[in-house]
Amino acid sequence: MPPEADALLQASRIDAGYGTMQVLWGVDLDVRPGETVLLLGANGAGKTTFLKSLVGLVAVRHGSIRLGHADITKMRSSARMRLGMTYMSELAVFPDLTIEENIRIGAQALGHPDPGSRLDELYGLFPALRDKRRDAASSLSGGQRKMLGIAKALAAEPKLLVMDEPSAGLSPLFVKEVIRILANLRGRGLALLVAEQNIGFLEVATRVFVLEGGRIRFSGTVAEMNDNEALHRAYFGLK
Ligand code: ATP
Repeated sequence: MPPEADALLQASRIDAGYGTMQVLWGVDLDVRPGETVLLLGANGAGKTTFLKSLVGLVAVRHGSIRLGHADITKMRSSARMRLGMTYMSELAVFPDLTIEENIRIGAQALGHPDPGSRLDELYGLFPALRDKRRDAASSLSGGQRKMLGIAKALAAEPKLLVMDEPSAGLSPLFVKEVIRILANLRGRGLALLVAEQNIGFLEVATRVFVLEGGRIRFSGTVAEMNDNEALHRAYFGLK
């Protein structure tokens, strides 16, 4: 696949794995500025491994990753983040710190010059967090904690937010809330790469990549995916 000239993130032919086990086989994926890309795949397909290879937590054995004009394939995680890519995993918040401290840490992680300035905008997006801003993050429900994780990641004003299964562990009601928040984030100039097995997230995606057995089985728009009957049938069975 030729590199996308206008890509914000371009991963080309990525091989990665653990010890003698190869998990990813020649994965190509690109994200353009401001778009929401969904990486869909069942348990064990390699989604987490791929996201970790993007952010520098799993070594790439073959292939290359570009962020903007920079080749980040061998860069340390912290340097990738300073270039504007933030990773939100399940362990996204510090339970012993208050909500506000968590958000400030998120901003400081990328060296934001004025972390406090982000608070008002983020509380606007997540009003429930404003009410509890002086409480420890451990006092939040699972769903609220997820919101805090998103707020903390956004505090740094990344160009690209990489999210690993934001729906994990959430009730259907909170999953809907996360989808609503992601929809709200569109149009703010932020690009999202979301790994999920919940097809509800198709609602907010501009493009979809389907990972199966560590290989990209499909890439295209949501409409193109819906037109692909075999794929649609296979993935509609997913939660
Ligand atoms: P899930 O939704 O279950 O997290 P996934 O699509 O994110 O699935 P990965 O977590 O990337 O998939 O796992 C892909 C394969 O790599 C699986 O076979 C898994 O057992 C294996 N694996 C993941 N992490 C490690 C690790 N640290 N060491 C060894 N093998 C691992």
